Amino acid sequence: MEATFNPPQLPTFVPTGLATAVSTPLPTPKNNVAAELPPPTITPQPIATTTVTQLPTSTPTATLTPTPISPCSKRIPQDDLFTIVTQTYGLSREYAPQDLVLLTDYLPVDVTLGFPTELRQIALQPLIQMIADMQSAGLQPRILSGYRSYAAQAISWDKWNREEPERAAILSARPGHSEHQLGTTVDFGSPELAGIVGIPDIQFHTYFYQTSEGVWLAQNAHRYGFTLSYPRGALEMTGFYYEPWHFRYVGEEMATLLLDLEMYLTEYQLLNQPEPCIP
Ligand SMILES: [Zn+2]
Repeated sequence: MEATFNPPQLPTFVPTGLATAVSTPLPTPKNNVAAELPPPTITPQPIATTTVTQLPTSTPTATLTPTPISPCSKRIPQDDLFTIVTQTYGLSREYAPQDLVLLTDYLPVDVTLGFPTELRQIALQPLIQMIADMQSAGLQPRILSGYRSYAAQAISWDKWNREEPERAAILSARPGHSEHQLGTTVDFGSPELAGIVGIPDIQFHTYFYQTSEGVWLAQNAHRYGFTLSYPRGALEMTGFYYEPWHFRYVGEEMATLLLDLEMYLTEYQLLNQPEPCIP
């Protein structure tokens, strides 16, 4: 990988970054990748208007300080768990995690469904423990997606633009603009979803939040270091609609802080560090 990544340095908080963040219009709202396209019946969640005064004042501790953003042409997060990735702020096409593991080597097939899903090693043990605890609680979590390369995202993006050009922008993320490229993000499924939605075999739907697995994850994922990237109201800052199935590993301390602050990672990051450059 690139050797030009800036070494970690003491961060400088720039609280004024928020004003820029919330006043900068994001591109046309887009949904996540192809595998996550909402069904035709999906009802977009109301978009909360986030203002500066509604945001709680956060006092980051030294261990939770955001890592400085690398130069625009080199948005390569390396080991940074907090890197901002949205429909506006993308990753370098050169970035791929170096510590990917195959989940089928560690989790039962009823969880992985036999897909060769990869994830970064750093998130593996917390994920295994979380899955085990969910199963002990009588739940049936499924893992539908993990790491997705820049190239895989590009293929998905091209496919949707070819097949449904009008809807491509809300069915897929541009390559470099999916948190799945970080290798720390997991999409979960539930066997209850199809029954709730009324569409056989459906894998992704907003109603995931009503499933037993979705309820449990919303309440407990932070204890294992996973945080919900796109809650209701995150569209303006992230470019993504509510995705109750999409969790990103940020470590237990950060995940718990975000839950306590009732914030999501991108919101927290844009409050506490300079706005990233746009590649
Ligand atoms: Zn996802």
